[in-house]
Amino acid sequence: MTRPNRSLDPATISRLLVDTSPYLSCDDCFALLDEYVERRLADPQHRDPALEAHLRGCGACAEEAEALRDLLIADAG
Ligand SMILES: [Zn+2]
Repeated sequence: MTRPNRSLDPATISRLLVDTSPYLSCDDCFALLDEYVERRLADPQHRDPALEAHLRGCGACAEEAEALRDLLIADAG
């Protein structure tokens, strides 16, 4: 009983996972930001790895995300 086609070793899988989380452009980020911030407020467990990667690397979008969150909190308040 040998299995010659062991195609998905952990290294391959993690490479695939990285490949499916592209670094978003600011336009992409901006388009998703509204919904992301709303979902995060409704559910703090909500994650969007690609968007979060962009926010970590982009001060402008991170600021925008914070402003949006403040606005929504004030709105809900
Ligand atoms: Zn950005």
